[in-house]
Amino acid sequence: MTTKNERAQGRWNKTVQLNYGTPSISLAKGSGSVVWDVDGNRYLDFLGGIATTVLGHANPSVVKAVSTQIRELSHVSNFYMHEPVLQLAEKLTGFTGEKSARVFFCNSGAEANEAALKLSRLTGRTRIIALEGGFHGRTTGALALTGQQAKRLPFLPLIKDVKFAPFGDLDSLRRLISRRVAMVIVEPIQGENGVVVPPTDYLKGVRKLCDQFGVLMCVDAVQTGMGRTGSWFGYEYSGITPDIITLAKGLGGGLPLGAMIAVTPQAPAFKPGEHGSTFGGNPVSCAAGLAAISVIEKKKLLSRAKTVGLLIKKEISKIDGVKAVRGEGLLLGILLEDINASTLVEVAKNNGLLLNAPNKGVIRIAPALSITDAQVREFIKKFAQSMALIQKGASK
Ligand code: PLP
Repeated sequence: MTTKNERAQGRWNKTVQLNYGTPSISLAKGSGSVVWDVDGNRYLDFLGGIATTVLGHANPSVVKAVSTQIRELSHVSNFYMHEPVLQLAEKLTGFTGEKSARVFFCNSGAEANEAALKLSRLTGRTRIIALEGGFHGRTTGALALTGQQAKRLPFLPLIKDVKFAPFGDLDSLRRLISRRVAMVIVEPIQGENGVVVPPTDYLKGVRKLCDQFGVLMCVDAVQTGMGRTGSWFGYEYSGITPDIITLAKGLGGGLPLGAMIAVTPQAPAFKPGEHGSTFGGNPVSCAAGLAAISVIEKKKLLSRAKTVGLLIKKEISKIDGVKAVRGEGLLLGILLEDINASTLVEVAKNNGLLLNAPNKGVIRIAPALSITDAQVREFIKKFAQSMALIQKGASK
């Protein structure tokens, strides 16, 4: 007898583009960090919608905010203001600590980086420096900034005048930077590249070089932001202030929402008509984002992300077959010795645990910041069991 998951696969293959392949399960329901598929199988969700569901699924505050908002006012376009967009802009600019900060709202990370790219053109310069291994999105502008050859190749030529420096290497950046450069774009941690962490003084060094040549520094905090790494944007530990910050993923508390914040007075400002998005900053997504921020603040989830992250690092590092664990807060990359990460993702899924493999040597986890202590213990147990199952199979 075919299962509901298998029937869903058949329907998917007949109707949906296969750019994501054919997923093996169709999810039906979620509560906090647990999800169930259409056949009723339960999974502990340690991918968190790829770092989006900061409070997990069906968080009561987010559900209430979204339901109330959609009953009162749904979408109005950007010809009008509304309270949720004003409040969210006030929150985000407040988090930067800069009075000059101004937000542009959109719907995704790629759009936030497109906005940053266009803003940088208003300096009159065109050259961009991005980092090898970096990921900034799939739209053509964001893809042009993405330092991953396989993703770019089928779509060349992309916009010109983008140079790539090795991530974490200030000497190479120093050789490339000049007064022709409009913007350097950098992730505090390269998430899609396998949770790659730069040297501690790297962001400070990038800031210094940008200042020396009058270049805008854009921090892409799409994956590291909204509390994931234990602070609002993921760069704060470095003591710098970027000129531009881009956000998405966790910003909408599980709903689509992106933002580009021009932080310092050095960053240009869009004039009326220079940029836009029909759905950007819509009331429902902004209400969800505000609710998520309020829960993160009330429950002190920034510091909890840090302590839980440290605990997971310590416990997972002890498991046989784990080479190292890197990352910050609840964005962690688990480096495997001899096991293929995709195999582990499959085995863990069959064992009721959802993980992700950004490449064949690394498992990425990005659970909800609201993950409970019991769920952390369940994760450690299931992860160790799944590793042991593979090792047992290999030794037969
Ligand atoms: N920037 C970073 C750092 C990301 O990790 C991602 C997505 O993974 C993006 C941009 C693109 O975001 P989106 O998929 O919402 O367009």
